[in-house]
Amino acid sequence: MKNIQDIPALFHSSETGTLIQRCLMCDSFLLDGMEYMIEKSISNYPGMNTKDIIHEFALCVDCATSIMNEYSEESAQKMAQYFTDHMDFSRLNKFKTEEFFEADLWVAKCIVKKTPIEECSNYQMSAHCIGDQIIFDKSPLMISGEATDEVADLLSNKTTDLLNKFRDDHFPPPEDLSPLFKEKDFVLL
Ligand SMILES: [Zn+2]
Repeated sequence: MKNIQDIPALFHSSETGTLIQRCLMCDSFLLDGMEYMIEKSISNYPGMNTKDIIHEFALCVDCATSIMNEYSEESAQKMAQYFTDHMDFSRLNKFKTEEFFEADLWVAKCIVKKTPIEECSNYQMSAHCIGDQIIFDKSPLMISGEATDEVADLLSNKTTDLLNKFRDDHFPPPEDLSPLFKEKDFVLL
């Protein structure tokens, strides 16, 4: 299948420059055929030609599902409704029809706001992978901080606490940076 390709450099580990090998939560080895998601969260400094990786991880489908299952019912419904109402897959569908499988282009605009990636001060990217392959379908996609802020505002306190706990367990902010971390800046797609 043409829409299944080697995972592009964009979704490699920025630390090692190679494939992310293990699930963040259960530590399963991903590269012999496991199904998983890669998420990267990036701060961009438009005009300065520089960016910082805020989070970067892979979650196997079982672990991702177990987190989603802990979302409150109300939050899950509101999130699903937001995505139905606001996510526009027409660009990705066009690329798919044209068999244009370049991850950089798929993530070039926010899936909700259509903001070009270079104009987003922060954004998340996600990719659906199996082993060392990426699947081009509803992702890879990029969602701007502007849109994830809107999603974060829909979430119940319980779900926000859950996501913040997940973030703090896995990515404790450096002490001196913590005032910069907003209460609600983390959404798992
Ligand atoms: Zn896992």
